[in-house]
This record gives sequence, C-alpha cells and structure tokens, in this order.
Amino acid sequence: MSVPTITLNDGVQIPQLGFGVWQVDAGTEAEEAVARALDAGYRHIDTAQMYGNEESVGKAIAKSGIARGELFVTTKLNNDRHGRQEAQKALDESLAKLGLDQVDLYLIHWPQPKRDAYVDTWRGFEEAKAAGKTRSIGVSNFQIPHLDRLAAETDTVPSVNQIEVHPDFGQAVLRAYHRDHGIATEAWSPLGQGGPLLQDGVVLALAEKYGRTPAQIVLRWHIQLGNIVFPKSVTPSRIVENFDVFGFELADDDVATLTGLDAGNRIGPDPDTFG
Ligand code: NAD
Repeated sequence: MSVPTITLNDGVQIPQLGFGVWQVDAGTEAEEAVARALDAGYRHIDTAQMYGNEESVGKAIAKSGIARGELFVTTKLNNDRHGRQEAQKALDESLAKLGLDQVDLYLIHWPQPKRDAYVDTWRGFEEAKAAGKTRSIGVSNFQIPHLDRLAAETDTVPSVNQIEVHPDFGQAVLRAYHRDHGIATEAWSPLGQGGPLLQDGVVLALAEKYGRTPAQIVLRWHIQLGNIVFPKSVTPSRIVENFDVFGFELADDDVATLTGLDAGNRIGPDPDTFG
C-alpha cells in the first residue's frame, strides 16, 4: 500500500500518514510499537523530546534496516528549551538519542506566548535547517497571532503547524489560514484520543455504510481534507487497521457530514496559556 505524500513549502515530501508515539513508554513498548508500525508499512514517525522515547524510536529504526532515505522522522523541541542557541543544543541531543545525523522535521512543540521566546527560538530553527540538522522546520500548537508574528519578524514560513484536529474539533479558521499561507496542517489526536468520537452515531453509521471501522472513517476524513495524520496505538491489530485507509473513499457529502460534527471539543490544553 503506498501512502500519498504532501509537498511542503520548502519542497520536502512528507508521507501523509505516519505513526505517533505520545504516551508510548520508552523501552520495550516503544521499540515494539515502532517496529510493528514499520513492519506494517509506516515510514513516518512522530516523536518529541517531551515523550521521552526518542532513544527507543532510534533503536527500532536502526534494527529495522530500512534505508534512512525511506523514513520521515519528526521530533519536537521541549518547552523548557526555547531560545536561539538552546533550541539547537536540544536538537543535537535529540539527534544523538535518535541515532541520526538529521531529522526530517523539527517542530517548536508549544508557542508558550507568555514566555515570549518563540520568535528567537524560530531563528535557531532557521539556523538548524541551514546547518543540515533538519530538512524542514515547523511549529505546533501555534495560533494565528503567533504565526503572524513569525511572518512579520522572520524570513521563514513554517512548513507545518501541528495542531489538535478531529471531526468534533475541526479548526476550520486555522486550517484556512494555513491554506492561505502555504503551511501544511498536521492533525494531532486525529482519532480524538479514541474517546467518544469513535462511538458517535454519525461515525458508526458511516463505518457501517463503508464496511470500515470508526477509526478508519475518521482517518479517511483527515486524508481527504489534506491533513497529515499519525494515529497512535500500541495494539498490533489497530496499528495495521489505522494504516489501511487508502483502499476506499468517502463521498463528498459524507466528508461534509463529518465536518459538521465540529462542536469545538478541544481535548488538549489551550495553546494560548499552556507551558
Ligand atoms: P489519537 O487520536 O491518535 O488516539 C490514540 C488512541 O486512540 C489510542 O491510545 C487508543 O486508545 C485509540 N485508538 C487508536 N487506534 C484505534 C482504533 N483503530 N480503534 C479504536 N481506538 C483506537 O491520539 P494521540 O496519541 O493523542 O495523537 C496522535 C499523535 O499525535 C501522538 O502520538 C503524537 O505523536 C501527536 N500529538 C502531538 C501533540 C502536540 O502537542 N503536538 C499532542 C498530542 C498528540
């Protein structure tokens, strides 16, 4: 099964579907989950310093024997490492843990606007990219005013903004901003963390209609909207299930019905105050 790629604003290609490892314990759990994901065909892994499992991700990658050029690896800067120099030191540490010379994408994990260091941090990201330590740079959990500030005060538009998105938290306004500014949307918690969304009557009815699981219906909605997703699971059957979303297509009106579930149900923290 081949996963479509999306071309980022710097020309780098990213597989639209990947594997997320938040809340996957470092050690055996993370190594096994990543190994299973690579086995199932995933070639894009989304980790972060904050997840504490970069070393395990790196071990699974090394053991897989898959050529580095076939993999897309993202990591993210920890909240306590903002700052132009500090961000680059933190990336060096992440690279050492991952056992890589370069990541494919490096993200500012949270803007922490009260700390007011994200613009300076972004300059460090531009330097890290120029030094070849990451192929692309982006942000996560940035709101429109934060993106506007980067545009006004720096030379580089982020390649992606990784934000919470699922059908009941659709982020229409922020996604439209991304579209207008050449920023790809990465949707975190694409399954709504496996909560009530996957029991929603509309989702269940579509699962029945297409002969697919609720998770596959929701992931397919993301794919058809153009979102980049990396669902997390440590359950072998779900790792396979979540990858199997390219053999069917939702009708436009069913995509619209799912989009209509938006109820502003944010699960995670508010980026304006977090960190
Ligand atoms: P998710 O929406 O991927 O949901 C994962 C949970 O859903 C699993 O723990 C499991 O309980 C359930 N699940 C998974 N597959 C299922 C299936 N097929 N059927 C039924 N239930 C299923 O949630 P997530 O882990 O929060 O998000 C995915 C990834 O996004 C993370 O692993 C991480 O890489 C990234 N993320 C980033 C941020 C950020 O601030 N940038 C925040 C949260 C998550």
